[in-house]
Amino acid sequence: MVGLGLREELEQRGISRRDFLGFCASMASILGLPGATAAIAEAVEKEPRPILVWLEFQDCAGNTESFLRASHPTVADLILDTISLNYHKTLMAAVGSQLDQTVKDNKGKYIALVEGSVPTGADGAYCTIGGRSALDIAREVCSGAAATIAVGTCAAFGGIPAAGPNPTGALSVADAVPGVQNLINMSACPANAENITALMPLFSANQAPLRTVVALVDPVIDLITGETAAIQGTGVELKSLTRSELFAGAWQGDGLHILTPGEFDPDEGLLPVLTPTRSADPPILAAELIALPLRGLRLAVLSATGEP
Ligand code: SF4
Repeated sequence: MVGLGLREELEQRGISRRDFLGFCASMASILGLPGATAAIAEAVEKEPRPILVWLEFQDCAGNTESFLRASHPTVADLILDTISLNYHKTLMAAVGSQLDQTVKDNKGKYIALVEGSVPTGADGAYCTIGGRSALDIAREVCSGAAATIAVGTCAAFGGIPAAGPNPTGALSVADAVPGVQNLINMSACPANAENITALMPLFSANQAPLRTVVALVDPVIDLITGETAAIQGTGVELKSLTRSELFAGAWQGDGLHILTPGEFDPDEGLLPVLTPTRSADPPILAAELIALPLRGLRLAVLSATGEP
């Protein structure tokens, strides 16, 4: 298989181009990105394939079991089979040095996938691997990753191990590694190959950083939440746009940020209060948001908070 592109590898395994595009269409649906099938296909096929480092700490190994199911493999299984799974703690416990090497050689390029909560009690003695505590490993590996996926309820929120009285001091990844970059909590257990695969295009190792985000915001709510200030604080340029530009797709940016007052109501005229749509623009209904042209976006934030 060495030297073959993903497309050739799938064809050798009996997956036609048509099957592959069908799979990408369902990925677009899972991600809520209508019209993004071609972009997902391009991202999935892109070389080099993402390097995945899979850590397992305090949990039931149900997500690993799910990942490893061998019968009737789907397109997603095969795609995951072709990513570079450099280290899986449960499957490769005897080759821990490979973890060290991967982390060292690919700083900022690999994806860390964490399964299980991180015990912090008794100086981390409740879970040690190769003489190192789970906390120590999680902090090193997740801090050096391009992105971290917390798979399963235990990794995402602490899960059963963190239930009171929580004797091991179990924490979620977010709490155990404060400030971890690009964290995605995928809490549904057990994870399936489709959901994990759907995230891969978002984490291409070659992806450039976010540069511009276009925004429609309620200025009063923004003053309270500070969302656009937080976006600008990362060095990202924030542009505004009008309703007609929004639906015509006549805007360019790496992301779209919509901040509205109150809670989402499909029948509510959502955006008459948003700048710069105040003027003569007709209101935008929440139900219309599904028609937004989001193709190529790397960040879409639709949030509704508080009262105007
Ligand atoms: S919550 Fe999920 S990860 Fe945690 S033990 Fe249960 S199945 Fe495993």
